[in-house]
Amino acid sequence: MDLTRLNPCQRGVVTDLMGFGLPRPTYGPEFSRELVARLEDGLAVSAAEHTPDDPLVLSKSRLTEVLTCEGLYLSRDAQPFAMSRAMALGILTHKAVERLLVDLERHPNPHAATEYALARASSGEDALASWLTGLDEDERLEIKGEVRNLATEFVQQWPPLERGWYPRVENRASALLCGGRVKLYARYDLALGKPEGSEARTLIVDLKARSFGASHFEEIRFYALVETVRVGIPPFRVALHSLETGGHYAEDVTAATLSAACERVVEAAAALGELRRGRQPSLRPGPACNWCGSSGDCPPGRAWIEDDVTVIESHVSQASTSV
Ligand code: SF4
Repeated sequence: MDLTRLNPCQRGVVTDLMGFGLPRPTYGPEFSRELVARLEDGLAVSAAEHTPDDPLVLSKSRLTEVLTCEGLYLSRDAQPFAMSRAMALGILTHKAVERLLVDLERHPNPHAATEYALARASSGEDALASWLTGLDEDERLEIKGEVRNLATEFVQQWPPLERGWYPRVENRASALLCGGRVKLYARYDLALGKPEGSEARTLIVDLKARSFGASHFEEIRFYALVETVRVGIPPFRVALHSLETGGHYAEDVTAATLSAACERVVEAAAALGELRRGRQPSLRPGPACNWCGSSGDCPPGRAWIEDDVTVIESHVSQASTSV
């Protein structure tokens, strides 16, 4: 790759985020076998309550919700799925970026790719198509403009992705454990590379329209875990990239990373099982209260929003002793 043809932001992506030209780690087959054994051991109780036809599905959003606040998780779980503006924007932007990667001849620029993404999404029969149908003309133009801006940021900030890097957008990935009774599910915004023999050469990136939040770091480590279990070799690196700032965070995947991700999965699975069996949720007021559907009926949540620290502390100490 000729770095002199890239702008400074693109060069930063190549050198800092992708670690272009640096040696990659290697792993023997026992590495993933031991990780899977550890996961299956920790998940055994949870798995026993499921079947391969009705597996316990652990996705990044489920893990984040239940570990952020169990009340938040129950609130979300009880609500019927509803497409949000942020979700629609994310799906449409990924679709536009995908077009720019796989079909540059028909969609040579962000404008054409955005037109395609909106037309394609509108012709479906899913939640996104219904959401788009409900927009008036001005709202639709606004969304189109935002998608086009984000797709433009992508091509401005990222180098052209070569075919030999095996670029995948919205890459669905599942890993089955415990005889199919537990399923780890992820969808990577962008994945590049693939393992070569025992050499880790995969990079997984979560693209963010805005900046990063605390949970995003745990979520990319979850991706590393899913990829390791299903492929047998970890990604060499996982990363976050903000299209708003052009900045990124990249983390080498290590045994410690995967061990922490494994513990987080086991902890979340145990909590989900206990909640299903009727345990009262442990409430953890925090920033999530601001968008939690239960905040109106949740005293610690309201206190957090209203900044009443005394009520929060008394409730958290009661909740932690009752679990
Ligand atoms: S309002 Fe806050 S504390 Fe209450 S359930 Fe929601 S996230 Fe949890």
